Amino acid sequence: MTNEYQVRVQPQVAANEQALRSWLADEYGFDVRTITAVRILRRSIDARQRTIFVNLKVRVFINEQPTDDEYVRTDYPDVSERPQVIVVGAGPGGLFAALRLIELGLRPIVLERGKDVHERKKDLAQIAKTQKVDAESNYCFGEGGAGAYSDGKLYTRSKKRGSIEKILNVFCQHGASANILADAHPHIGTDKLPRVIENMRNTIIRCGGEVHFQTKMTRLVLNGNTVVGCFAADKEYSGPVILATGHSARDVYRYLADRKIEIEAKGIAVGVRLEHPSMLIDQIQYHNKLGRGKYLPAAEYSFVTQVDGRGVYSFCMCPGGFVIPAATDKEQLVVNGMSPSNRGGQWSNSGMVVETRAEDIEGDDPLRVMHFQEQLERDCWQQGNMRQTAPAQRMADFVNKRLSYDLPRSSYAPGLISSPLHFWMPQNISHRLQEGFKAFGRQSHGFLTNEAVMIGVETRTSSPVRIVRDADTLMHVRLQGLFPCGEGAGYAGGIVSAGVDGERCAEMCAQYLQQTV
Ligand SMILES: Cc1cc2nc3c(=O)[nH]c(=O)nc-3n(C[C@H](O)[C@H](O)[C@H](O)COP(=O)(O)OP(=O)(O)OC[C@H]3O[C@@H](n4cnc5c(N)ncnc54)[C@H](O)[C@@H]3O)c2cc1C
Repeated sequence: MTNEYQVRVQPQVAANEQALRSWLADEYGFDVRTITAVRILRRSIDARQRTIFVNLKVRVFINEQPTDDEYVRTDYPDVSERPQVIVVGAGPGGLFAALRLIELGLRPIVLERGKDVHERKKDLAQIAKTQKVDAESNYCFGEGGAGAYSDGKLYTRSKKRGSIEKILNVFCQHGASANILADAHPHIGTDKLPRVIENMRNTIIRCGGEVHFQTKMTRLVLNGNTVVGCFAADKEYSGPVILATGHSARDVYRYLADRKIEIEAKGIAVGVRLEHPSMLIDQIQYHNKLGRGKYLPAAEYSFVTQVDGRGVYSFCMCPGGFVIPAATDKEQLVVNGMSPSNRGGQWSNSGMVVETRAEDIEGDDPLRVMHFQEQLERDCWQQGNMRQTAPAQRMADFVNKRLSYDLPRSSYAPGLISSPLHFWMPQNISHRLQEGFKAFGRQSHGFLTNEAVMIGVETRTSSPVRIVRDADTLMHVRLQGLFPCGEGAGYAGGIVSAGVDGERCAEMCAQYLQQTV
C-alpha cells in the first residue's frame, strides 16, 4: 500500500528519515515497522515566523518496496547514421538541444570553443594565481557553459511546468540527486555539476553524436538565405545550425552585426555582488541569533524594489558560496557567484542589480548595450589596478558615500581593493543601488550593514543582444536553417530556461529538416 500526505514538520524531523518515519507513524497511527520507504515529493521551508517549519509532500510505502525510479528516464537511440545538426556551444542550451535531437532521431555535432569541464577547472584556478583570464577557457566558456561552475540553481520564473520537469529529470538521469525534483528551490552545486555535464556528453557520444572542444565557430556557411553549416577551427561542418553561444560571445555578436544578420539591442541589469557573512543572513532570515542550527540549509533572500522607474533587485543568490571572477577576456573585470552543493561556505552573496533598458543608452546601434557593458567592465578593471583584484566598498559606506578604510574578509580569491564605487559607477546605477539598499535595509533589519561588502561589477546578468527569430519556427527571421538558442540569443535566462529553449530549438530544427528532405 502507498499513501501520500502533505505534512508540516520541524526541521530536525524533515532532515532525518528515521525521525520522519516515527513522526508519520505517530501522526497517522501506523506501526513504524510496516513503513518500508518514504519518498519526499515536495519540500519547502516556511521561515515566516520564529518557529520554522518544513512543508513536505511525502509518499509512504507500507509493506511494499518502491519499484520505479525516482525520476522519469528518457530513451536515447543510436543516431550514428541519421542526418546531422550542428550545435554551437555546449552550455545548457546546446547540451539539451543535442540530447533532444538524439531523442528525435538526429545526430548532433556539438562545437565548443572551450575545454572539457575538467580541463577547464585548471584555467579557473589560474585566474586567482596569475590574475590572468584565458579568453577561451574561463567561468563562461567551456563545456557546461556559464552554468557549469555556478550555484546550479534550477529554479526559473517560467511557468511551463512540463518542460521544466523534463529538464530536471534529464539532470537526474545524468547523476543529479533526485532531491532536485522535490525541493522548492532546487540546486545542484558546483562540486556536483561537472560530473553531470560529463555524463550528458557521454550520452551524446555513445548515441553516435560528436562533441568537439577547442573548436570555435568563426562564421556561418550560407547558400543564399539558408544556413547550411559553419566554419570552426578551420574546418567546415554541414547541417542546420543551432546557435547556443551564450551571453558572453561578443565575437559572435560582432560577426552577426558586421554581416548585417538581424540582431537588436536588449536590456540587461548591472550592479555589484554583495557579500554578507552567511551567519548574518541566517540570523536575519531564520529570526534566530544562533543562526540556522544543524538542520536548516544556508538561508536565501530575495529583494526587489523600484527606484526612479527602474527595477532594483537581488539576482542569482548563492548562500554559503563564493564570489568569482567571471571575465572572458583581458582588460575586463566582472564578478558572479557560485556555491558548493552543501552551501556550507562562510559567506552568502548575490548580485544586486539595476534594470537597464536598451532605450536608456543613446543611439540605434544594436551593440550599444554590449558596448555599455564592456565599458563598465573596463572601468572596473582599471579601478582594480588592471588586475583581477576587484574594487570593493562596504555596504553602509556606499550608501553614505564614504570610502571604506578597510574591507572585511571575503570569498573572492583574487583579492579586493577599497574603491569609491559610489563615485565611479554610472550615477543612474549607483544612485538606484543606494536607494534600493536603504529600502532592503528597512524591509530586513540588519541587512544594510558595513559587515557586507559590495564587489564590482556584475554585468553578465543576461544577453545585451537579441538574435531575432520567428516566434513559431524559432528560426532566424531571415536566415533559414539558423536557430538562435538560449541565453545568448536573448530567449532564456538561467540554466533551466536555456535547457528548455534548447529542447524547443531541437524540435523546430527536426520539423525544418522534415520539410526540406
Ligand atoms: C558564474 C555564474 C553562475 C551562474 N549561476 C547560475 C545558477 O545558479 N542558476 C542559473 O539558472 N543560472 C546561473 N547562471 C546563468 C546560467 O549559467 C546561464 O543562464 C546559462 O548557462 C545559459 O545557457 P546557454 O547554453 O544559453 O549559454 P552558456 O551557458 O553561456 O553556453 C554557451 C557556450 O557556448 C560556447 N561558445 C561561445 N561562443 C562560441 C563559438 N564561437 N564557438 C563555439 N562555442 C562557443 C561557450 O564557450 C559556452 O560554453 C550563472 C552564470 C554564471 C556566469
